[in-house]
Amino acid sequence: MNDKSLKIQTRALHSGRRPSDQRGLVNTPVYRGSTIVSETLKELRSKTIADREIGAMIYGRFGTPTTFALEDAIADLGGGHGGLSLPSGLAAVTTSLLAFAKPGDHVLVADTVYGPTRGFCNRMLTSLQIEVEFYDPMIGSDIDRICRPNTQCIFLESPGSLTFEVQDVPAIVAVAKSRNIVTIIDNTWATPIFYRPLELGVNVSVIAATKYVVGHADAMLGLIVADEEHYPIVRSCRDVLGQSVAPDDIYLGLRGLRTLSVRIKQHEHQTLEIAKWLESHEDVIEVFHPALTNCPGHEIWKRDFEGSSGLFSFSLKSKSDDALAAMLDPMKLFSMGYSWGGFESLIVPANPQATRSATTWSKPGQLIRVHIGLENVDDLKRDLEQGIQRYYEY
Ligand SMILES: *Cc1c(COP(=O)(O)O)cnc(C)c1O
Repeated sequence: MNDKSLKIQTRALHSGRRPSDQRGLVNTPVYRGSTIVSETLKELRSKTIADREIGAMIYGRFGTPTTFALEDAIADLGGGHGGLSLPSGLAAVTTSLLAFAKPGDHVLVADTVYGPTRGFCNRMLTSLQIEVEFYDPMIGSDIDRICRPNTQCIFLESPGSLTFEVQDVPAIVAVAKSRNIVTIIDNTWATPIFYRPLELGVNVSVIAATKYVVGHADAMLGLIVADEEHYPIVRSCRDVLGQSVAPDDIYLGLRGLRTLSVRIKQHEHQTLEIAKWLESHEDVIEVFHPALTNCPGHEIWKRDFEGSSGLFSFSLKSKSDDALAAMLDPMKLFSMGYSWGGFESLIVPANPQATRSATTWSKPGQLIRVHIGLENVDDLKRDLEQGIQRYYEY
Protein backbone atom coordinates (compact mmCIF):
# COMPACT_ATOMS: atom_id res chain seq x y z
CA MET A 1 0.00 0.00 0.00
CA ASN A 2 1.41 3.35 -1.02
CA ASP A 3 -1.42 5.80 -0.63
CA LYS A 4 -0.18 9.31 0.12
CA SER A 5 -3.68 10.46 1.03
CA LEU A 6 -3.44 8.34 4.18
CA LYS A 7 -2.00 9.83 7.35
CA ILE A 8 1.45 8.80 8.56
CA GLN A 9 -0.02 6.81 11.48
CA THR A 10 -2.03 4.68 9.08
CA ARG A 11 0.84 4.26 6.65
CA ALA A 12 3.14 3.10 9.47
CA LEU A 13 0.78 0.13 9.85
CA HIS A 14 0.12 -0.69 6.23
CA SER A 15 3.19 0.26 4.19
CA GLY A 16 5.28 -2.61 2.89
CA ARG A 17 2.71 -5.27 3.75
CA ARG A 18 1.27 -7.53 1.07
CA PRO A 19 -0.69 -10.29 2.85
CA SER A 20 -1.82 -11.76 -0.47
CA ASP A 21 1.84 -12.50 -1.30
CA GLN A 22 2.24 -14.25 2.08
CA ARG A 23 -0.71 -16.65 1.92
CA GLY A 24 -2.74 -14.15 3.91
CA LEU A 25 -0.31 -13.61 6.77
CA VAL A 26 -0.56 -10.10 8.18
CA ASN A 27 3.21 -9.84 8.57
CA THR A 28 5.87 -10.83 6.08
CA PRO A 29 7.62 -13.75 7.82
CA VAL A 30 11.35 -14.11 8.37
CA TYR A 31 12.72 -15.41 5.09
CA ARG A 32 16.16 -16.88 5.61
CA GLY A 33 18.29 -17.51 2.61
CA SER A 34 21.51 -16.98 0.75
CA THR A 35 21.12 -18.89 -2.51
CA ILE A 36 18.09 -18.25 -4.65
CA VAL A 37 17.90 -20.76 -7.48
CA SER A 38 16.63 -20.21 -10.99
CA GLU A 39 14.72 -22.84 -12.93
CA THR A 40 16.08 -22.01 -16.33
CA LEU A 41 19.18 -20.45 -17.80
CA LYS A 42 16.99 -17.74 -19.24
CA GLU A 43 15.69 -16.86 -15.77
CA LEU A 44 19.20 -16.91 -14.28
CA ARG A 45 20.47 -14.53 -16.94
CA SER A 46 17.46 -12.26 -16.69
CA LYS A 47 17.96 -11.41 -13.03
CA THR A 48 19.53 -8.04 -12.41
CA ILE A 49 19.77 -5.97 -9.29
CA ALA A 50 17.40 -3.47 -10.86
CA ASP A 51 14.72 -6.16 -10.53
CA ARG A 52 14.73 -5.44 -6.81
CA GLU A 53 12.27 -2.72 -7.78
CA ILE A 54 9.75 -5.42 -8.60
CA GLY A 55 10.63 -7.60 -5.63
CA ALA A 56 12.77 -10.13 -7.51
CA MET A 57 15.35 -12.01 -5.49
CA ILE A 58 18.87 -12.52 -6.76
CA TYR A 59 20.99 -13.42 -3.79
CA GLY A 60 20.46 -13.25 -0.04
CA ARG A 61 22.83 -10.36 0.46
CA PHE A 62 20.53 -8.08 -1.52
CA GLY A 63 17.59 -9.03 0.65
CA THR A 64 14.55 -11.28 0.79
CA PRO A 65 10.84 -10.40 0.98
CA THR A 66 11.34 -9.62 4.70
CA THR A 67 13.95 -7.00 3.80
CA PHE A 68 11.87 -5.59 0.97
CA ALA A 69 8.85 -5.19 3.26
CA LEU A 70 10.85 -2.99 5.65
CA GLU A 71 12.64 -1.05 2.92
CA ASP A 72 9.40 -0.35 1.07
CA ALA A 73 7.68 0.72 4.29
CA ILE A 74 10.40 3.16 5.28
CA ALA A 75 10.60 4.57 1.76
CA ASP A 76 6.89 5.29 1.91
CA LEU A 77 6.95 6.81 5.40
CA GLY A 78 9.99 8.94 4.65
CA GLY A 79 8.58 10.14 1.33
CA GLY A 80 11.47 8.73 -0.67
CA HIS A 81 11.89 6.85 -3.93
CA GLY A 82 13.53 3.91 -2.17
CA GLY A 83 14.56 2.60 1.22
CA LEU A 84 17.64 0.69 2.30
CA SER A 85 18.44 -1.38 5.37
CA LEU A 86 21.91 -1.51 6.89
CA PRO A 87 23.46 -3.38 9.82
CA SER A 88 23.52 -0.33 12.13
CA GLY A 89 22.62 3.33 12.26
CA LEU A 90 26.28 4.21 11.95
CA ALA A 91 26.57 2.03 8.83
CA ALA A 92 23.68 4.01 7.34
CA VAL A 93 25.51 7.28 8.11
CA THR A 94 28.89 6.13 6.77
CA THR A 95 27.42 4.51 3.65
CA SER A 96 25.51 7.68 2.76
CA LEU A 97 28.65 9.79 3.06
CA LEU A 98 30.86 7.30 1.20
CA ALA A 99 28.33 7.14 -1.61
CA PHE A 100 28.92 10.79 -2.52
CA ALA A 101 32.23 12.05 -1.14
CA LYS A 102 35.24 11.39 -3.36
CA PRO A 103 38.94 12.24 -2.98
CA GLY A 104 39.44 15.97 -3.40
CA ASP A 105 35.93 16.83 -2.25
CA HIS A 106 34.95 19.11 0.58
CA VAL A 107 32.22 17.96 2.97
CA LEU A 108 30.36 20.13 5.48
CA VAL A 109 29.23 18.42 8.68
CA ALA A 110 27.10 19.89 11.49
CA ASP A 111 29.22 20.42 14.60
CA THR A 112 26.58 18.71 16.75
CA VAL A 113 26.51 15.37 14.92
CA TYR A 114 26.46 12.07 16.75
CA GLY A 115 30.00 11.44 18.06
CA PRO A 116 30.80 8.35 15.95
CA THR A 117 29.65 10.23 12.81
CA ARG A 118 32.31 12.82 13.61
CA GLY A 119 34.80 10.00 14.23
CA PHE A 120 34.11 8.51 10.79
CA CYS A 121 34.55 11.90 9.11
CA ASN A 122 37.79 12.65 10.93
CA ARG A 123 39.33 9.25 10.43
CA MET A 124 37.94 7.63 7.30
CA LEU A 125 36.94 10.56 5.08
CA THR A 126 40.12 12.45 5.91
CA SER A 127 42.25 9.43 5.03
CA LEU A 128 40.50 9.33 1.64
CA GLN A 129 41.69 12.90 0.99
CA ILE A 130 38.24 14.29 1.56
CA GLU A 131 38.32 17.58 3.43
CA VAL A 132 35.85 17.69 6.31
CA GLU A 133 34.72 21.02 7.74
CA PHE A 134 32.42 21.23 10.72
CA TYR A 135 29.88 24.06 10.80
CA ASP A 136 27.70 25.76 13.40
CA PRO A 137 24.32 23.94 13.30
CA MET A 138 22.54 27.32 13.58
CA ILE A 139 24.24 28.62 10.42
CA GLY A 140 21.08 28.57 8.24
CA SER A 141 21.48 30.20 4.83
CA ASP A 142 24.90 31.58 5.83
CA ILE A 143 26.21 28.14 4.95
CA ASP A 144 26.57 29.67 1.49
CA ARG A 145 29.65 31.54 2.76
CA ILE A 146 31.55 28.37 3.61
CA CYS A 147 30.54 26.36 0.52
CA ARG A 148 33.34 25.90 -1.99
CA PRO A 149 33.35 24.85 -5.64
CA ASN A 150 34.33 21.33 -4.52
CA THR A 151 31.75 21.03 -1.72
CA GLN A 152 30.09 17.72 -2.46
CA CYS A 153 27.80 17.13 0.52
CA ILE A 154 26.31 18.82 3.51
CA PHE A 155 25.57 16.51 6.42
CA LEU A 156 22.89 17.64 8.87
CA GLU A 157 21.52 16.29 12.11
CA SER A 158 18.50 17.94 13.65
CA PRO A 159 18.14 18.33 16.52
CA GLY A 160 21.83 18.06 17.38
CA SER A 161 23.20 15.30 19.57
CA LEU A 162 23.37 16.10 23.31
CA THR A 163 22.31 19.77 23.03
CA PHE A 164 19.32 19.65 20.62
CA GLU A 165 19.89 22.69 18.39
CA VAL A 166 17.29 22.59 15.59
CA GLN A 167 18.69 23.29 12.13
CA ASP A 168 17.03 25.46 9.49
CA VAL A 169 16.90 22.63 7.00
CA PRO A 170 14.95 24.44 4.23
CA ALA A 171 17.45 27.34 4.31
CA ILE A 172 20.41 24.99 4.02
CA VAL A 173 18.68 22.92 1.32
CA ALA A 174 18.05 26.08 -0.75
CA VAL A 175 21.76 26.89 -0.74
CA ALA A 176 22.71 23.27 -1.45
CA LYS A 177 20.31 23.04 -4.40
CA SER A 178 21.61 26.27 -5.93
CA ARG A 179 25.12 24.83 -5.80
CA ASN A 180 24.28 21.25 -6.70
CA ILE A 181 25.40 19.92 -3.32
CA VAL A 182 23.94 16.67 -1.93
CA THR A 183 22.22 16.96 1.46
CA ILE A 184 22.15 14.08 3.95
CA ILE A 185 20.40 14.26 7.31
CA ASP A 186 20.39 12.10 10.42
CA ASN A 187 16.71 11.93 11.40
CA THR A 188 17.02 9.42 14.25
CA TRP A 189 15.53 11.68 16.95
CA ALA A 190 12.19 12.51 15.31
CA THR A 191 11.73 9.52 12.96
CA PRO A 192 9.46 9.96 9.90
CA ILE A 193 6.48 10.05 12.25
CA PHE A 194 7.40 13.59 13.35
CA TYR A 195 9.76 14.84 10.64
CA ARG A 196 10.14 14.02 6.95
CA PRO A 197 13.19 15.90 5.63
CA LEU A 198 12.74 14.66 2.04
CA GLU A 199 9.55 16.70 1.90
CA LEU A 200 11.75 19.72 2.66
CA GLY A 201 14.09 18.89 -0.21
CA VAL A 202 16.80 16.90 1.59
CA ASN A 203 18.19 14.17 -0.70
CA VAL A 204 19.02 11.40 1.76
CA SER A 205 17.62 10.77 5.24
CA VAL A 206 19.23 8.32 7.60
CA ILE A 207 17.83 6.84 10.78
CA ALA A 208 19.38 4.66 13.44
CA ALA A 209 16.43 2.26 13.56
CA THR A 210 18.21 0.71 16.54
CA LYS A 211 16.52 3.49 18.51
CA TYR A 212 12.78 4.11 18.07
CA VAL A 213 11.96 1.86 15.11
CA VAL A 214 13.20 -1.33 16.75
CA GLY A 215 12.07 0.32 19.98
CA HIS A 216 12.80 -2.52 22.38
CA ALA A 217 16.59 -2.29 22.75
CA ASP A 218 17.05 -5.69 21.15
CA ALA A 219 18.57 -5.20 17.69
CA MET A 220 20.98 -3.01 15.72
CA LEU A 221 19.58 -1.60 12.49
CA GLY A 222 20.05 1.35 10.15
CA LEU A 223 17.65 2.68 7.50
CA ILE A 224 18.09 5.12 4.64
CA VAL A 225 15.48 6.86 2.52
CA ALA A 226 16.57 8.68 -0.61
CA ASP A 227 15.04 10.57 -3.51
CA GLU A 228 14.92 9.18 -7.02
CA GLU A 229 18.21 10.68 -8.18
CA HIS A 230 20.25 9.66 -5.12
CA TYR A 231 18.72 6.30 -4.17
CA PRO A 232 20.59 4.24 -6.79
CA ILE A 233 23.90 5.81 -5.77
CA VAL A 234 23.50 5.03 -2.05
CA ARG A 235 22.16 1.60 -2.88
CA SER A 236 25.11 0.75 -5.09
CA CYS A 237 27.51 1.92 -2.35
CA ARG A 238 25.81 -0.29 0.22
CA ASP A 239 25.84 -3.28 -2.10
CA VAL A 240 29.42 -2.84 -3.22
CA LEU A 241 30.49 -2.70 0.45
CA GLY A 242 28.72 -6.02 1.04
CA GLN A 243 26.44 -4.76 3.79
CA SER A 244 23.46 -6.94 4.55
CA VAL A 245 21.12 -7.29 7.53
CA ALA A 246 20.02 -10.64 9.00
CA PRO A 247 16.27 -11.28 8.47
CA ASP A 248 15.57 -11.62 12.19
CA ASP A 249 16.78 -8.09 12.83
CA ILE A 250 14.82 -6.82 9.84
CA TYR A 251 11.77 -8.51 11.30
CA LEU A 252 12.31 -6.76 14.65
CA GLY A 253 12.49 -3.47 12.73
CA LEU A 254 9.24 -4.26 10.93
CA ARG A 255 7.51 -5.29 14.11
CA GLY A 256 8.68 -2.10 15.84
CA LEU A 257 7.60 0.07 12.94
CA ARG A 258 3.97 -1.05 13.28
CA THR A 259 3.68 0.45 16.78
CA LEU A 260 6.16 3.31 16.31
CA SER A 261 3.59 6.08 16.07
CA VAL A 262 1.82 5.20 19.32
CA ARG A 263 5.03 4.55 21.20
CA ILE A 264 6.72 7.76 20.11
CA LYS A 265 3.65 9.83 20.96
CA GLN A 266 3.64 8.37 24.46
CA HIS A 267 7.38 9.09 24.76
CA GLU A 268 6.65 12.64 23.58
CA HIS A 269 3.86 13.20 26.06
CA GLN A 270 5.77 11.84 29.07
CA THR A 271 8.97 13.60 28.07
CA LEU A 272 7.28 16.99 27.78
CA GLU A 273 5.79 16.55 31.22
CA ILE A 274 9.17 15.72 32.73
CA ALA A 275 11.06 18.40 30.76
CA LYS A 276 8.62 21.09 31.95
CA TRP A 277 8.80 19.84 35.50
CA LEU A 278 12.61 20.01 35.38
CA GLU A 279 12.44 23.49 33.81
CA SER A 280 10.59 24.74 36.90
CA HIS A 281 12.78 22.79 39.32
CA GLU A 282 14.87 25.09 41.52
CA ASP A 283 17.95 22.83 41.35
CA VAL A 284 18.02 22.63 37.54
CA ILE A 285 19.93 25.32 35.62
CA GLU A 286 18.54 24.74 32.14
CA VAL A 287 16.62 22.18 30.10
CA PHE A 288 17.55 21.53 26.46
CA HIS A 289 14.54 20.28 24.51
CA PRO A 290 13.37 21.50 21.06
CA ALA A 291 9.80 22.02 22.27
CA LEU A 292 10.93 24.48 24.98
CA THR A 293 11.29 28.12 23.95
CA ASN A 294 14.90 28.51 25.17
CA CYS A 295 16.14 25.83 22.75
CA PRO A 296 18.13 27.26 19.80
CA GLY A 297 15.93 26.68 16.76
CA HIS A 298 12.72 26.18 18.77
CA GLU A 299 10.78 28.27 16.22
CA ILE A 300 12.13 26.11 13.40
CA TRP A 301 11.10 23.00 15.30
CA LYS A 302 7.58 24.42 15.59
CA ARG A 303 7.51 25.19 11.88
CA ASP A 304 8.94 21.94 10.51
CA PHE A 305 8.31 19.11 13.00
CA GLU A 306 5.07 17.40 13.97
CA GLY A 307 6.26 16.36 17.41
CA SER A 308 9.15 15.67 19.72
CA SER A 309 10.55 12.43 21.09
CA GLY A 310 11.93 11.16 24.36
CA LEU A 311 15.54 12.33 24.40
CA PHE A 312 16.69 15.62 25.93
CA SER A 313 19.23 17.08 28.34
CA PHE A 314 19.30 19.25 31.43
CA SER A 315 22.03 20.82 33.47
CA LEU A 316 22.77 20.82 37.20
CA LYS A 317 25.46 22.85 38.98
CA SER A 318 28.88 21.35 38.40
CA LYS A 319 30.03 19.03 41.15
CA SER A 320 32.43 16.12 41.50
CA ASP A 321 32.25 12.77 39.75
CA ASP A 322 31.57 11.27 43.18
CA ALA A 323 28.47 13.44 43.48
CA LEU A 324 27.37 12.23 40.04
CA ALA A 325 27.89 8.64 41.13
CA ALA A 326 25.86 9.35 44.30
CA MET A 327 23.06 10.59 42.05
CA LEU A 328 23.18 7.95 39.32
CA ASP A 329 24.30 4.68 40.92
CA PRO A 330 21.26 4.16 43.17
CA MET A 331 18.65 5.18 40.58
CA LYS A 332 15.89 2.61 40.40
CA LEU A 333 14.28 3.21 37.00
CA PHE A 334 16.79 5.24 34.98
CA SER A 335 19.65 2.99 33.91
CA MET A 336 22.99 4.22 32.66
CA GLY A 337 23.60 3.08 29.14
CA TYR A 338 24.24 4.35 25.65
CA SER A 339 21.68 4.17 22.92
CA TRP A 340 18.05 5.10 23.56
CA GLY A 341 14.66 4.78 21.88
CA GLY A 342 13.72 1.57 23.66
CA PHE A 343 10.77 1.33 26.06
CA GLU A 344 12.98 2.05 29.08
CA SER A 345 14.38 5.18 30.67
CA LEU A 346 18.09 5.92 30.46
CA ILE A 347 20.43 8.53 31.88
CA VAL A 348 24.04 9.50 31.14
CA PRO A 349 26.23 12.49 31.99
CA ALA A 350 27.35 14.30 28.83
CA ASN A 351 30.18 16.61 27.84
CA PRO A 352 29.27 18.40 24.58
CA GLN A 353 32.56 20.26 24.25
CA ALA A 354 34.41 16.96 23.81
CA THR A 355 32.70 16.39 20.46
CA ARG A 356 32.64 19.82 18.81
CA SER A 357 35.20 21.99 17.10
CA ALA A 358 33.43 24.73 15.10
CA THR A 359 31.46 26.01 18.08
CA THR A 360 32.09 26.30 21.81
CA TRP A 361 29.76 24.99 24.47
CA SER A 362 29.91 27.66 27.13
CA LYS A 363 26.79 26.90 29.14
CA PRO A 364 27.48 26.37 32.84
CA GLY A 365 26.96 23.18 34.82
CA GLN A 366 26.94 19.45 34.41
CA LEU A 367 24.91 18.29 31.41
CA ILE A 368 22.79 15.16 31.86
CA ARG A 369 21.07 13.42 28.97
CA VAL A 370 17.94 11.41 29.63
CA HIS A 371 15.71 9.18 27.58
CA ILE A 372 12.19 9.08 28.97
CA GLY A 373 10.77 5.60 28.65
CA LEU A 374 7.21 4.33 28.94
CA GLU A 375 7.20 3.83 32.72
CA ASN A 376 4.66 5.78 34.78
CA VAL A 377 5.65 9.49 34.77
CA ASP A 378 5.23 9.96 38.53
CA ASP A 379 7.50 7.00 39.19
CA LEU A 380 10.09 8.53 36.84
CA LYS A 381 9.84 11.96 38.47
CA ARG A 382 10.35 10.47 41.91
CA ASP A 383 13.44 8.58 40.75
CA LEU A 384 14.89 11.76 39.21
CA GLU A 385 13.95 13.93 42.19
CA GLN A 386 15.66 11.57 44.62
CA GLY A 387 18.74 11.44 42.36
CA ILE A 388 18.96 15.24 42.16
CA GLN A 389 18.68 15.46 45.95
CA ARG A 390 21.49 12.93 46.41
CA TYR A 391 23.63 14.95 43.97
CA TYR A 392 23.29 18.21 45.85
CA GLU A 393 23.52 16.61 49.30
CA TYR A 394 26.73 14.78 48.46
C1 LIG B 1 22.63 5.84 17.86
C2 LIG B 1 22.74 6.83 16.80
C3 LIG B 1 23.37 6.51 15.59
C4 LIG B 1 24.04 5.19 15.36
O1 LIG B 1 23.17 4.11 15.41
P1 LIG B 1 23.70 2.64 15.75
O2 LIG B 1 22.60 1.76 15.34
O3 LIG B 1 23.99 2.64 17.22
O4 LIG B 1 24.95 2.43 14.93
C5 LIG B 1 23.42 7.47 14.60
N1 LIG B 1 22.87 8.69 14.79
C6 LIG B 1 22.26 9.03 15.94
C7 LIG B 1 21.68 10.40 16.07
C8 LIG B 1 22.19 8.12 16.98
O5 LIG B 1 21.59 8.48 18.12
